Amino acid sequence: MNNNANILIKRSKRKSISLSILPNRQIQVKAPFNVSKTMILDFVKTKQRWIQKQLSLQKQRSDFEKSFDFENYYYIYGKQYKKDKIIDYKTLALNELPKLIELTKEQIGYHYNKIVIKSSKRLWGSYSSKKVIMLNFKCIILPKDIIQYIIIHELCHSKQMNHSPKFWNLVEKFCPNYKDTKCQLSNFAFLLKKDI
Ligand SMILES: [Zn+2]
Repeated sequence: MNNNANILIKRSKRKSISLSILPNRQIQVKAPFNVSKTMILDFVKTKQRWIQKQLSLQKQRSDFEKSFDFENYYYIYGKQYKKDKIIDYKTLALNELPKLIELTKEQIGYHYNKIVIKSSKRLWGSYSSKKVIMLNFKCIILPKDIIQYIIIHELCHSKQMNHSPKFWNLVEKFCPNYKDTKCQLSNFAFLLKKDI
């Protein structure tokens, strides 16, 4: 396969070569000034498998995004409903998500001081050192098992304020297939930036 035409080379004072796939499916290589074009192309060649994987992942995610029709439908707990009455996601989330958090807290026995349900373009949830658990109101759109994973993830931060192997072991204890769920959640990343 010849990707050369689709490679964007950006040179800077950096020390190493990095590879990324842009949203327009173009391959971007960031390289130091002293690395020749041939070396860059050779480097890209060795990364073909990774590139193909990223491109197909990107395609899968954009197909997934296209399967939603926010003009005509509502999506609640991963289910689709015809838009025949007015539903405000934020109000719904404020009513629903605290109940789920409380339930999960009781199941796993980890604590928080306060719940905040708000809008974020970057995060599905967070847990602060003041034990404030935050959930993005858009979580209400996700399937329940994914929301459950996000809540478990955040509550596990009450024991481990990091993403160390110890932290993931805790998550796994309460959510044995968290790796799959995390993968599914990454398909919903488009929702974070979307105005709904
Ligand atoms: Zn985390």
